[in-house]
Amino acid sequence: ISSKLPNAKTTIFTTVGNLARQHNAIDLSQGFPNFEADSELMQLVTKAMSEGHNQYAPMFGSYPLREAIIQKIAKLHNRKYHVEKEITITVGATQAIFTAITAFINRGDEVIVFKPAYDCYEPAIEINGGISVLVQMSGDNFKVDWEKFRAQITPKTKMVIINTPHNPSGTLFSREDMLELQKSLRGTDIILISDEVYEHIIFDELEHESASRFDDLSSRSFICASFGKTFHVTGWKVGYCVAPAELMQEFRKIHQFNVFSVHHPVQRALAVYLQEPSHYLYLADFYKKKRDYFIDALAQSSFKIIPCQGTYFQLLDYSELNDEGDVSFAKKLITDFGLACIPISVFNIDQKDDQKLRFCFAKTQSTLEKAVNILNSI
Ligand code: PMP
Ligand code: GLN
Repeated sequence: ISSKLPNAKTTIFTTVGNLARQHNAIDLSQGFPNFEADSELMQLVTKAMSEGHNQYAPMFGSYPLREAIIQKIAKLHNRKYHVEKEITITVGATQAIFTAITAFINRGDEVIVFKPAYDCYEPAIEINGGISVLVQMSGDNFKVDWEKFRAQITPKTKMVIINTPHNPSGTLFSREDMLELQKSLRGTDIILISDEVYEHIIFDELEHESASRFDDLSSRSFICASFGKTFHVTGWKVGYCVAPAELMQEFRKIHQFNVFSVHHPVQRALAVYLQEPSHYLYLADFYKKKRDYFIDALAQSSFKIIPCQGTYFQLLDYSELNDEGDVSFAKKLITDFGLACIPISVFNIDQKDDQKLRFCFAKTQSTLEKAVNILNSI
């Protein structure tokens, strides 16, 4: 049979997760919390169900949830999206990204992707006949060289995908980065997808510079986010995207025939819960404590700690330990030491930079302690 994705394999998250379970390893691989969400949020879902919100939600998403999201964006980023025309609730950020790509990418169109890159971008581009043009973020801080970026823009460039805060590196696009991006795209019709799923997980008093803050970016952007990260419910798979009306109109043509609408009672619950800013504003501090515990406890280890400004991922460089490839070293960590993480090469990174492993610190203190003990013993 002819495959539409001839090179795709089972994702690393499934492969490593299975291996970790097989070896009963401490699992810091896939990005999800191993603690429960707020019981108040769960009760709101039950309440929505008992109040009868059990049939199809409206195609764009439940009105109170769209309204609550729009209010939040207006408050945090001073941009007012239209509740009927400029927001759609999606099955997680993954569907938002896939649908936005499918709505606009035709055979031969180029899409600029910064690497290392989260794994769902390139297959979505390939399925639609597009070509991923990769731009390496460099150094331990994973900064973008904007001259190099500009050199990759051609008449065929249809789209650019950014991700800030960035998985897997934990870096942020600063205000200067966003202004460089805005300057680079000015005068073109290039569409931007801004993957902002870790928008509330940012440390050290740094700011989330959402694409919605910049006039000439927001006017060309799909901004995608996810409640999975923000409310510790990755399994609910509910997210959203906002975009100007003329872009969203095309997005919805795909969305209505692929997904049509998203889990209704969960949307009703999220609409109520989201109205209280303290439900997400505590996250920065909450995860900073976990990050700081993890890196402080590893200060004397053989691993080099790569700076993490946001997300719940910490990169560790093991190049002083050995020169083994990251996939085989990550496997050995599971089988010989009982600890699972993600090798960074799966995010499409230059080979010279791949001696790094990604550890998810969205875990309980006791899980983090066990992980740290193992890492300090290597
Ligand atoms: N983008 C990034 C950068 C991610 O890390 C993830 C996964 N957690 C997603 C998108 C997908 O989010 P969701 O689970 O809401 O589909
Ligand atoms: N975003 C999660 C991570 O980076 C994985 C989600 C998935 O498995 N698709 O670990």
